[in-house]
Amino acid sequence: MWFSLDTIVARAKRRGFAYPGSDIYGGLANARDLWPYGVEIKRNIENNRRQYFIQEREDIIWLDSQILMNPKVWEASGHVWGFSDPLVDCKKCQNRERADQLIEDYISQMKDKYKTIANKLHDITKNLFKEMDNLEENMNSTFSAIEYYENIGNWDFAKDFFTQEKEEIDKNLKTHKNKLEQAKEYIIILEGIKEWWIDEFIIRFIRWWVKINITNLNVWSRTFDQQFAFLQKFKIKCPKCWSVARTEPKKFNLMFKTQQGIIEGEGTDIYLRPETAQGIFVNFKNILDTTRSRIPFGIWQIGKSFRNEITPGNFMFRVREFYQMEIEYFVENNEEIGLKAFEEWKALSKKRWIEEMGIRENKLKFRDHDKDELSFYSKWTCDVEYEFPWGRGELQGIAYRTDYDLKQHMEHSGKDMQYNDPYTGKRYVPHVIEPSRGLTRAILTAMIDAYDEEIYTDGNGNEASRVVARFHKNIAPIKFAIMPLVKKDEKMVAIARDIYKKLSKKYMCEFDDSGNIGKSYRRQDEIGTPYCITVDHQSIEDGTVTIRERDSMKQERVKPEDIIF
Ligand code: ATP
Repeated sequence: MWFSLDTIVARAKRRGFAYPGSDIYGGLANARDLWPYGVEIKRNIENNRRQYFIQEREDIIWLDSQILMNPKVWEASGHVWGFSDPLVDCKKCQNRERADQLIEDYISQMKDKYKTIANKLHDITKNLFKEMDNLEENMNSTFSAIEYYENIGNWDFAKDFFTQEKEEIDKNLKTHKNKLEQAKEYIIILEGIKEWWIDEFIIRFIRWWVKINITNLNVWSRTFDQQFAFLQKFKIKCPKCWSVARTEPKKFNLMFKTQQGIIEGEGTDIYLRPETAQGIFVNFKNILDTTRSRIPFGIWQIGKSFRNEITPGNFMFRVREFYQMEIEYFVENNEEIGLKAFEEWKALSKKRWIEEMGIRENKLKFRDHDKDELSFYSKWTCDVEYEFPWGRGELQGIAYRTDYDLKQHMEHSGKDMQYNDPYTGKRYVPHVIEPSRGLTRAILTAMIDAYDEEIYTDGNGNEASRVVARFHKNIAPIKFAIMPLVKKDEKMVAIARDIYKKLSKKYMCEFDDSGNIGKSYRRQDEIGTPYCITVDHQSIEDGTVTIRERDSMKQERVKPEDIIF
């Protein structure tokens, strides 16, 4: 089922996952504060990854570098001159937009239009098939009746009736055949209008109409001139005032600048880091010298990054302050080895999205960049995209960045970034694979992917509905909810408290003594709690409790000490 972003946002606010930041002052453009359940999801994602990468693997270490770094870092990395988006201003209302995003939105509307046509054709074909099935069923039952009467030698008796029936069938057969022909035609058209066909059609249309030689629809790699030509030719309107008059795209640096120093105007300009990766590169040499790391090995860090996005939006998808989880995995300076490692990281990333996060596989897309979309230093890049309610968006970038970053820092800092291979004696600047994930986007994705609404039959046989967050057990913010059936029954409350005390030493639990079990179940379903434990009258007698599983809603009687997660 498909749920709108508004539905997800409403649940996030209602149940305490995330909320607009500085809300009592009217908020701050798309800033989001994580609330208790959101914080728990974040912590769970971090812990799962820490366990997998740091605890269970020997070849990755972690780091917590500073948000504020020497400004030379950003000169070396190319961010000072190159980390920018194409900005356009509406000439009528002065609204600022990203040219590439306006184009992206327009292309996705084009795709939707063609998809709607394809879906309509699909429905028509499905109805035709249904009609044909019905006809076939009628004919089959008449033919078997004829056979039956012929067999029992009672044909005369039914002759008149079946002659009429046979004529009817003959007539239907004609219509049947016509419809079949029609259906075949639709199927041929339908086959043609698959997604690749729609893309190809749009690419050719743009080439012809805008006169730019494109081979794919990834607009961010286009030049500013091409983007401007696209906006003009398709007369793309300002989303605020519908005017089509706008300035040509200009570079807008996304880095947040601030000042270090106590006297205003006399401090040094520094930047809030726009990514966590550079903190890893600048520590590379020191880490090599102080740890026993041997290539191949990786350095991982989680932390806040800041980008002065022109158009933040879609709740927590594009914000100006967000968490990233980046790994730089250093390998030998050999392209064959690098590409192999790149493919391995792609496969591992897929596994981790599905197994660690429980994200539905059919919602994920691993999109390799075309050659003309690659950054000049990148040998290969793949974006991991998710089918969000508003369209596809990037969750992670995996890039084979060769030795670009280390060489840049070597040149700008004058420090030797080479690795001495103790076995072969070779000395080289390693190549790097960078799987870079947004943690804030991962939290949002988990919330969207898990959300479900369900109609079910309750214990009394009545139809009921519930909202349920089907979080992977790893991700669920609360693992157990413990509830005494009767709020005022001291014995029940004492047993429940005891279970809570024990389980909460290991797991995040909630104690719910509202005394309304039905309501509590619904609340916990909406939070996504995998197990609810209820203490009732029988618990006082034999020490057993009921445990209810979130997805199946099945209940079982167990001893508290037998509960495992
Ligand atoms: P986009 O194309 O969406 O702007 P990007 O390609 O600039 O993203 P990277 O620089 O590759 O992103 O950053 C790695 C990851 O950091 C992204 O895949 C995304 O998950 C996350 N990320 C980047 N920008 C933002 C943002 N403004 N808000 C939240 N997460 C972000």
